[in-house]
Amino acid sequence: MFQIFRKLGWFFKLRWKTYTLAIGGLIACALLSAAIPLIIGNLVDEMARGSITWTSLTQQTGLLLAIGIVMYGLRYMWRSNLFGNSTLLEAIMRNRLFDHFTKMDQKFYGQHRTGDLMAHATNDLAALRFVAGGGIITLTDSLSITVVTLFSMIFIIDWQLTLFTILPFPLLIFVAQYLGKLINKYFRGSLKAFSDMNDHVQESVSGMKVIKAFGEEEEDYLDFVKETDNVVEKNKKVFRIDSAYTPVIDVITGLTYVLTIFFGTYFIQNGRITLGDLIAYLSYLGNMTWPLLAVGRLVNTMERGNASYDRVTDLLSEKASVVNDPNPVKNLEYNDLKVNINTFSYPDSDAEILSDIHFKLEEGDTLGIVGRTGSGKSSLFNLLVRNFDVESGEILIDNTPLNKIDMTELNDRVGYISQNNLLFSTTVRENIRFGRPNMTQEEVEYYAKVADVHEDILTFSDGYDTLVGERGVSLSGGQKQRISIARTLAMNPEILIMDDALSAVDAKTEQRILTNLREFRQKGITIIATHRLSSIMRADEILVLDNGHISERGTHEQLISLEGWYDNMFRQQQLDQKISESGEDNE
Ligand code: ATP
Ligand code: MG
Repeated sequence: MFQIFRKLGWFFKLRWKTYTLAIGGLIACALLSAAIPLIIGNLVDEMARGSITWTSLTQQTGLLLAIGIVMYGLRYMWRSNLFGNSTLLEAIMRNRLFDHFTKMDQKFYGQHRTGDLMAHATNDLAALRFVAGGGIITLTDSLSITVVTLFSMIFIIDWQLTLFTILPFPLLIFVAQYLGKLINKYFRGSLKAFSDMNDHVQESVSGMKVIKAFGEEEEDYLDFVKETDNVVEKNKKVFRIDSAYTPVIDVITGLTYVLTIFFGTYFIQNGRITLGDLIAYLSYLGNMTWPLLAVGRLVNTMERGNASYDRVTDLLSEKASVVNDPNPVKNLEYNDLKVNINTFSYPDSDAEILSDIHFKLEEGDTLGIVGRTGSGKSSLFNLLVRNFDVESGEILIDNTPLNKIDMTELNDRVGYISQNNLLFSTTVRENIRFGRPNMTQEEVEYYAKVADVHEDILTFSDGYDTLVGERGVSLSGGQKQRISIARTLAMNPEILIMDDALSAVDAKTEQRILTNLREFRQKGITIIATHRLSSIMRADEILVLDNGHISERGTHEQLISLEGWYDNMFRQQQLDQKISESGEDNE
């Protein structure tokens, strides 16, 4: 149960001063609180004897008041220190986790669901905060109060009375622990039900368009009701045990009071103790019960904190498989790319995704990559931008293997426009200059023009200041694609990879952008994957991928003369184009 304190040892060391102060304050409070029953007992005795004087009354009540004030100060001190520490721990761990997230590779994100990572960054860290704050308080407080109170009961009041009356306490500890564990168990069930329900809300809200389009609202609602019912069921279980907890504890503590009254009166009759002693003793009993109850809760806090800490450190200990070389090569010329992939499979999978992909590109070259969906185009790009490492084969830029090149430089010089473009929740301008935040408005507009999106942006309500993303305007798919193209072009990458990056714009716009690109990129290497064959007709070489290998290759003319998949596809697309154009003419 105390493992978690050992695991958090580094943090306690780091903050040892504030912890020492806080724990000192807690112990001092416990000592002071032991004095109060004694003073009250003494007053009662003086009253009973009829010997009480005005001076003694004012002195002793004054003392009570002074103790109260000092305790207030001490409490303030330990509370502010401990709670300050616990939020600090949470922040440290959260920053570590976030830093780790930024360093991890695609494999990591393939293995962990976003929702789970979010849960680690919130719930688990909150559990740690409870350990470093409330956990320490409960532990120190219950220990020091129990020790001080027991000590006063035995040595100041009467050891025999103590012996006879604390008999039910072991039972109390046992019951508190047992029920505490049970509550914890059911509580976990209720948390799980709650998070399932939460996931459902999240998914339904973000997918409401699709749900409606399929007319599935009713079914979705009924599914949801099942989940809320489950939450109610699981919570009822928790409350059932919880409701048993307090009454059971009350009965047991009631028993100790009965024993105290019985033996106390007997001892007073015998002259072993005074009435004041009994009153003081009763007040000590009251002090004793809550720390014992708190121990039950403490076990929960510690266990939960321990499990959370393990989960977070497991995450933190995961190593990215794609890492920067210890002595990375920098300042390369990015004018020569050689790809020799023998085979490639994704980590944790046996399926061979790519095999025998060999090609070579030089400055000014454009390579087209086509092939049916799932043929491996994006996978090839995943290797070129080093989202994954090639196990069998190599990719060389300027005759340097990719895994030796400094990763920051590689990311700067190789521009990748992915199929799923993501814009951030900020203005259009900030999105375009994401990689080069210091760009001027003229530059931003220049790249927007190359990507043929400038005119569109001017029609937005705030032009380049328009907010996009979740809370901003809804952009069309084609607008999003073109803004992400502008964002990548703004980095002036020597090697530009466009993965189906123009799928959402019409053929004419695509042609305009490609013409701009040819003008804009006299130098550099350009690789374009697409489903629209007309857009790579002018490429220096075209690779046709089929099931991960190159089935046809050559220039447009060569591929047409092969009369294979490419030729077939090209004719079909030309035909479709003609039909849609004549449709437009008739309008
Ligand atoms: P599309 O034209 O639809 O974009 P594509 O040619 O880009 O298709 P890829 O995305 O490269 O095809 O997919 C090739 C194969 O690799 C598919 O069978 C896919 O299931 C698999 N695959 C893609 N990404 C991963 C991944 N991260 N982990 C495991 N398998 C993957
Ligand atoms: Mg793809």
